Amino acid sequence: MRTRLQDPVFARRVRGVISAFENYMSQKDTWAGHHAQQLISRPVAYFTAEYGFHETLPISAGGLGILSGDHARSASDLGLGLVGISLFYREGYFQQMISRENWQTEYYTPLRPASLPLDPVLDESGERLVCQVEVNLSEIYFQAWRVNVGRCPVYLLDANRPENEQFHRDLTLHVYGGDTSTRIMQEMLLGVGGVRLLRVLKVEPSLYHMNEGHVAFLALELIREKLAAGLSFQEALARTKRQCVFTTHTPVEAGHDRFSPDLVKYALQRFQPQVTPSFEDLMALGRVDPSNDQEPFCMTVLALKTSRAANAVSELHGQVSRNMWHVLYPDRPVDEVPIGHITNGIHLMGWMKGPVRSFWRNKLGPHWDRDIHSPSFWERMLDPEFVTDEEIWALRYRLRRALIEFTRRRFWIRNMTFGDITSMDRLLNPDALTIGFARRFATYKRAPLVFEDYDTIVRLATDPVRPVQFIFSGKAHPADSEGKRGIQKILHLSKYSELRGRLVFIENYDVHIARQMVSGCDVWLNNPRRPLEASGTSGQKVICNGGLNLSILDGWWREAYDGTNGFAIGDDSRPSSVAEQDRIDNINLMKVLSERVIPCFYDRDERGIPHNWISMIRRSMATMLPKFTTWRMVQEYVLKYYLPGTHQVSSIEKDK
Ligand SMILES: *Cc1c(COP(=O)(O)O)cnc(C)c1O
Repeated sequence: MRTRLQDPVFARRVRGVISAFENYMSQKDTWAGHHAQQLISRPVAYFTAEYGFHETLPISAGGLGILSGDHARSASDLGLGLVGISLFYREGYFQQMISRENWQTEYYTPLRPASLPLDPVLDESGERLVCQVEVNLSEIYFQAWRVNVGRCPVYLLDANRPENEQFHRDLTLHVYGGDTSTRIMQEMLLGVGGVRLLRVLKVEPSLYHMNEGHVAFLALELIREKLAAGLSFQEALARTKRQCVFTTHTPVEAGHDRFSPDLVKYALQRFQPQVTPSFEDLMALGRVDPSNDQEPFCMTVLALKTSRAANAVSELHGQVSRNMWHVLYPDRPVDEVPIGHITNGIHLMGWMKGPVRSFWRNKLGPHWDRDIHSPSFWERMLDPEFVTDEEIWALRYRLRRALIEFTRRRFWIRNMTFGDITSMDRLLNPDALTIGFARRFATYKRAPLVFEDYDTIVRLATDPVRPVQFIFSGKAHPADSEGKRGIQKILHLSKYSELRGRLVFIENYDVHIARQMVSGCDVWLNNPRRPLEASGTSGQKVICNGGLNLSILDGWWREAYDGTNGFAIGDDSRPSSVAEQDRIDNINLMKVLSERVIPCFYDRDERGIPHNWISMIRRSMATMLPKFTTWRMVQEYVLKYYLPGTHQVSSIEKDK
């Protein structure tokens, strides 16, 4: 580094980055300064089980973590007081390797805090700060690492302390690692430990945001503190509720942690007596029916019962969640179940690829990004004199070409060892319509759906005049063999079928691959089993780079799609069975691909420019970029849920 800094060009670039950063950090005139003064002096504590910031710190399993990371980045941009709490998984999420049988295998590599942007949290005497949580019969000791996300600190709790026995040190080894007993212990550490760390650091949050049920034990610690200060249990619970808000992220059953009564009794044996009068009172907080002593303890129920307000992550997911949790509010009509919605977004600047930013800088000058969140900035995309079709198409070609080169490089490096080298320039075509799919390989996301009707998809893909190619990436959960079969099927097709050369699976999906894919693909495919995709965010990342969405009307896309700004697969109808749904969705997918997507992409003028396609890109940017960002999303959280007096709950609650 020091030698490189002697290169004056490089040194100038580094100085530029540093001064831009210092400028950013010293901004006084922020959105929060005008709208949320209270949340600057007393921050929001944002608890989440995963954070996705950058590929060098791989402690996220998927969309939930990326969303947490983008939430923190936008909170910083807005000047909001926000303190993040999560765990430091010292081997992170698994790395994916594909065997000769095309089967996903997993391995882990230790992270090295010294080479990461992590600072150890120290006490007043400069020693490692160590706190503890009582779990099972033991005390578990933990230390913490601080990540600075712009102006917002994020603390990652780490059980790897010499005071702990090895089993406890390994609690923070892997993201969602181990079995349910590891899981409940991780969650004790995260929820209870997180609150204790904030106390020692003398951070006084005005509010606790529970991002998904994993973190809901934090409410028990808030209750415990109040009991210790002499309040009754009822009072402590009512006050705790006033301090917490909760976001639910999935209608998928496996996404809601449920622990057996025996496990809860074991894991909380030392903690429970400090929180509730009896064990059954504790279980009641996590049960739909407190009188049913067989019912497991559900973290989502705990979160709903201990927060003043709750929300889902898209309009449709709001409806689904109100139905799902109606059992908890039997006296109310479904519409009045107190779960609202705030649709997810992405951190716009973070997902806008370098060449796109340079494009705008060249057009608008050094301060080009001042208004990028305003509708008027993007409305100009509709003006073909402001940005010409030629300019947009040249940028798109450049981004597609960069993705294809990236993919060839990755493919070549990975496959050399198998002696299976497809000639490089025969792998993918920089002029062909490129469709991307990358996300977790959860069953409901149906990654292989587009290949279900083999003859049709081969006919479309191999058309000599209008070829189509696919790039896939993603990890299946280590225990999910159906997800792994999906990966295997795609790999088989890519190697041994007529799709060879036109279908690539990029191994070991991470944020870096995501960044290449969402910028280079022409079309971003999303075909979940509706309504299981609560929001989805990857499709939002393609828009600023000029990609178009092709998606089932689920999650965010159902409220974004307007008939002119991308492509919908099917409509709002509800098939009678899952098999029927898969069949119909595949038919609709083939139909929209062959009748709309492909003809539109290849409808060119004499210079090869697809004007209708480009006007769709213009509509896509103008209609969606001002809305589906965390800049808008975090503001909505502040105005609807964070500020005191917002989101008043039931009259019973107000009387207390
Ligand atoms: C955005 C993102 C996701 C979320 O993708 P969905 O399609 O919303 O499930 C997952 N993983 C990574 C690395 C991402 O960047």
